[in-house]
Amino acid sequence: MAPRSPRIAFINATVLPFDTRWRVLENCDVIVADGRIVALGPNAMARRAVDRRIDATHLVVTPGFVNAHTHSPETLARGLADGQGLHDWLDEVWRTLNRLDTDGIRLAVQLGCIEMIRSGTVAVVDHFRQYPPRLEAVGAAAAAYRDAGFKALLAVWLRDGIGPRNRSNDAKRQIELCAEAAKRWHKPAAGLRIGVGPSGPTRCTDKLLAGAGALARDKGLSFHIHVDETKEEAGEARRRYGSTAVRHLRELDLVWPGLSIAHGTWLTDADMRDLARGGAGIVHNPISNMRLGSGIARLDAMRAAGARVALGADGAASNDSQNMLEAAKAATFLQRLAVKDRRQWPSTLDALSMLTHAPAEMFGLTSGPLAAGGPADLVAFDRRSVALAPGNDLHRQLVLCHTGLTVRYSVIAGRMVMDDGRLTTIDEAAVLAEAARRRMRGRHARRH
Ligand SMILES: [Zn+2]
Repeated sequence: MAPRSPRIAFINATVLPFDTRWRVLENCDVIVADGRIVALGPNAMARRAVDRRIDATHLVVTPGFVNAHTHSPETLARGLADGQGLHDWLDEVWRTLNRLDTDGIRLAVQLGCIEMIRSGTVAVVDHFRQYPPRLEAVGAAAAAYRDAGFKALLAVWLRDGIGPRNRSNDAKRQIELCAEAAKRWHKPAAGLRIGVGPSGPTRCTDKLLAGAGALARDKGLSFHIHVDETKEEAGEARRRYGSTAVRHLRELDLVWPGLSIAHGTWLTDADMRDLARGGAGIVHNPISNMRLGSGIARLDAMRAAGARVALGADGAASNDSQNMLEAAKAATFLQRLAVKDRRQWPSTLDALSMLTHAPAEMFGLTSGPLAAGGPADLVAFDRRSVALAPGNDLHRQLVLCHTGLTVRYSVIAGRMVMDDGRLTTIDEAAVLAEAARRRMRGRHARRH
C-alpha cells in the first residue's frame, strides 16, 4: 500500500462507530490521512486542508467488516455441487481447484475482493488451499491482495495425513514452504500476513501440526485450522486420539491466542472452555454449515464459555456468496431454531461485533470501533436505499435488510478502493469477462 495516501474528508455523515454504546452520530465528519483516521466528530473538518472532500449527507459510515474464514479459489466454483455433504462436495469442487495456474489464482482472489468490497468487507482470512501447497501459488494470491489494496491473512493450507501423496518428508517440506512464504510476504504493516493453516487435525500428522505450531510461535504467525466441521470429523478425532480434536491440539500445546479454529460445529462444552482459557478463537460459518448440512454450531455455548467468535463466509462454493452481512443475518437467526431460551439468542449487535471487534482481536488485521487514531478501514453505505429506509434502527437494518444495500465508498488502510460505487484497484469488467471464459461445469447434470 502507498506510504502516503491522500487526505480524505467525509463531511456530514451518519457514523456508526460500533463503539461500546453503539452510538449513532449524525452530522459527523471523518478525516483520513496516512492510513489512519485523524479526526472524527461534528465539525472535525474545520480549518483542515484535504485532498478530497466528499459530501456524506446521504452516507452511513461504519467500520469495514472481516471475513474470518474463506478459501479464495472457490470463487471460481460458485453454484456447483449443490445438495451434497462435505465429503462428496470436496471431491467435486476441489478436483479442478487444487492446481490452479497463477492467472487462475489471481482471478479467484480478484473475484472475491470485488464481492467483499461491494458488500462492506475490508479484510479476509484466506485459508489458502492448493494441493500440494506451492510457493508460487501463495505468491500469486499475496500479489493479488496487495494490488487490490485488500487486507489479508493468507493461512497456507497444509495436509500430509491421508492419501497416496503422504510421504514421510511432506511435513518438513510443507513447513519449510510456510517459513519461506512468511519470509517473502508476511508484512503486517502493509496489510498482508502469512499464517499456517493445517487442513484439520485428522487430516494431518502430529509431526506437521507440531512443526506448524512451532513455526507460528517462533515467527508470530497465526495458526488457522478446521475443527469438527461435521459430526463424522468429530467422531474420527475420537477414534484416532481417544479424545476430542481440541483436547488433542491442547496436548500438542497448540491452544494459545494465535490459534483460530474454523467451524467447531460439534465442540463439547469442555472444548469451548479449553479454547476460551487458551485465548484461542472460533470462526462460525453459518451459511456453509447450512449448505452442506454440517449442523448448527452452538454459538450460545461458545459465547457463554467466554470464547472469541468471529464470522466467516467460508469458501464461495459452499455459501455461495462472500457477503458478510448475509452471514451475520444467518448467524443471528439460525441460533433461534436451535436455542429455546430467548435470552441466549444473539442480537444483531452481537453479529456486528463478530464482524468487527472479535476478528480485530483474533487476527489484528484491522481495529474494532471507528475512532480517531485508529486505522482507516471504513465503508460508507448509501442511505438512500430501500434497505435502510425508513431508518428506524440503522444497526439492525444493516444486518437484517442488507439486500440491495449499496456500498458507495470503501477505504482500506487510508486508500480509496471504491470511489462513489466504482472500484479503483480492480478492473471489474475485465475480471468478470475472464471469469466467464473460465466457466466450470459440475460433474452431475443439473437436477433442479
Ligand atoms: Zn473452510
